[in-house]
Amino acid sequence: MKYISTRGQDGPLSFEEALLNGLARDGGLYLPVEWPAFSKAEISAMRGKSYIEIAGLIMSRFTEGELSQEQITQMAGSAYRGFTHPDIAPLKAMQEDIHLLELFYGPTIAFKDYAMQFLSRAFDSALGRQNRHAVILGATSGDTGSAALEAFRGRQALDVFILFPKGRVSPVQQKQMTSVRDAGVHAIAVEGDFDDCQALVKACFNDGPFRDKVGLSAVNSINWARLMPQIVYYFTSALALGAPDKPVAFCVPTGNFGNVFAGWVAMQMGLPVQRFIVSSNRNDILTRFFMDGKMQRRDVHPSLSPSMDIQVSSNFERLLFELLERDGQKTASYMQEFARTGQFTVAENVLQTALQDFSGFCLDDEGTSEEIKRCYRDEGYLIDPHSAVGLAAARHARSTQLIETDTPIISLACAHPAKFPDAVYHASGQHPALPEALSDLMEREEQMLTAKNDMAAIQQLLLERQRG
Ligand SMILES: *Cc1c(COP(=O)(O)O)cnc(C)c1O
Repeated sequence: MKYISTRGQDGPLSFEEALLNGLARDGGLYLPVEWPAFSKAEISAMRGKSYIEIAGLIMSRFTEGELSQEQITQMAGSAYRGFTHPDIAPLKAMQEDIHLLELFYGPTIAFKDYAMQFLSRAFDSALGRQNRHAVILGATSGDTGSAALEAFRGRQALDVFILFPKGRVSPVQQKQMTSVRDAGVHAIAVEGDFDDCQALVKACFNDGPFRDKVGLSAVNSINWARLMPQIVYYFTSALALGAPDKPVAFCVPTGNFGNVFAGWVAMQMGLPVQRFIVSSNRNDILTRFFMDGKMQRRDVHPSLSPSMDIQVSSNFERLLFELLERDGQKTASYMQEFARTGQFTVAENVLQTALQDFSGFCLDDEGTSEEIKRCYRDEGYLIDPHSAVGLAAARHARSTQLIETDTPIISLACAHPAKFPDAVYHASGQHPALPEALSDLMEREEQMLTAKNDMAAIQQLLLERQRG
């Protein structure tokens, strides 16, 4: 499979190149030259297969000519071995034929583990083949950093440096990062906020000579190989509810648009999906887009679901490219306009095409707390604030008949409630307990570096500590 950029000026290149580059050289995002498709019979034949086998079947279609189905299956087996539920991504039935897809059985109890654990194996194997060393540098507001440090620990060909804003991540998130104490893995507390951390990362990547000298790589959600493993659970969950004979609808708590786009790819591959409901917190740029076709950036407001406090959904560029019939030049011009003015508007027919597959929904903090409380009262089940934003959208879609009663709705539960214990406690009066594997987390010893909000200081740290 070959890969091209959404801005039309990079590629075609191999899966391995798309993986190691992360972001295309023309500023765009990589996509396969075409969507591989399964016939209805091939999808039916997936029933009864394990999560790992289905992962091998699906993902190897994107690595044809480079990594075999057997190699991908083996990587998936290794990636998900430590997950604490035998089904990897099980469903939990709620009232009204709504089903929560529980994506918190990985080591850091949020769905980012499903992608990051696979990504680390893919990096390891690609770097091994090229006999290369790489340094991964990223910034985090919490979930991505903990998933990355966990996934990349103990890998010889890689060093990982994650910048986080000192004193501004939750205690659970900080412990998850700083208790990973393997060689080559570094959590760095920066004296600044999340935007400062992100700016430092960008500055390091934009320093060409430095980037080449240390072999910098990125693992944020624009990397195609991070999106790809997320396609798998859309298939396995729909299969469990009767696909491909019966369509389902998905409701996805959304920030960067990576997770929901993976679902849309599953649909392009032949999975019958009636609709995707894109659910946001009060940072509602996507909800507004689906109303009038105008993408307009506003200030980011902190909310109870911090992993969705985003006003620029980077992965939306992939959908835009598709909506514009894969015209890279047009996509580039919209994205340039957005960077320059903070907004762009698509033509009415483009919006209508998007609305055939997507609807938007948003929920403020008050609604989120109410949904956590209601779910505990009516279903006896504790959910985290991100999952609550999704579940409320699913129930709304049901009550308004947007999704008719004969279509099951799968609502993604993106994190374990114990990852956001304060919000869950305030809403429900319940203290969510950490899963057993993490029960001693808060007593674990910490190891972290601290740094000033200064690019030279960060670069020096990387040069001193990297093992390449
Ligand atoms: C990352 C994250 C999201 C948002 O996912 P995107 O792929 O960025 O849309 C939602 N919920 C949780 C718990 C997350 O960690």
